[in-house]
Amino acid sequence: MPMFDYHCSRCDRNTEELFRAQDAILDMISCEHCGSDACKIMSPHADMNRMWAGQAGTGGGVNGYMDRGLGVRVHSAWEADKIAESRGLVREQDYKPHFVEDFSEKRREQVAAQDKQTETYNANVKKYDGDKIKAMTETFTAKDCLDDKVSSGY
Ligand SMILES: [Zn+2]
Repeated sequence: MPMFDYHCSRCDRNTEELFRAQDAILDMISCEHCGSDACKIMSPHADMNRMWAGQAGTGGGVNGYMDRGLGVRVHSAWEADKIAESRGLVREQDYKPHFVEDFSEKRREQVAAQDKQTETYNANVKKYDGDKIKAMTETFTAKDCLDDKVSSGY
């Protein structure tokens, strides 16, 4: 399943967007941070996933066949699946229905929550005259820290 990064020149942040194999890949989407236009960035990773998602995995003869998605010669769909699995790839038909919708929705919620926390943190840094430890303590609960929800960017 293809995932693309989009860059927003207004707020200088990236938005990830997941597409189904049959979807048209948009050159432009709206930035999930500020709502401005974000342009597609090509990445080899996204490209490989797109090819993989488009591969149906048909059977091969004695010499196998070239799996274009994986970029290797395989002898069976089973072998292709094993290789894909070892690379952390999942065939698109294996995703649950509404996977794309759920995934996108979840990501947007996560990003919104992160943005909000960053805002709170920055406000707290100001409030404590640049004391980042105090700001951290005020912004995040101990549980957040233990759950590894706090990004290492702070
Ligand atoms: Zn933006």
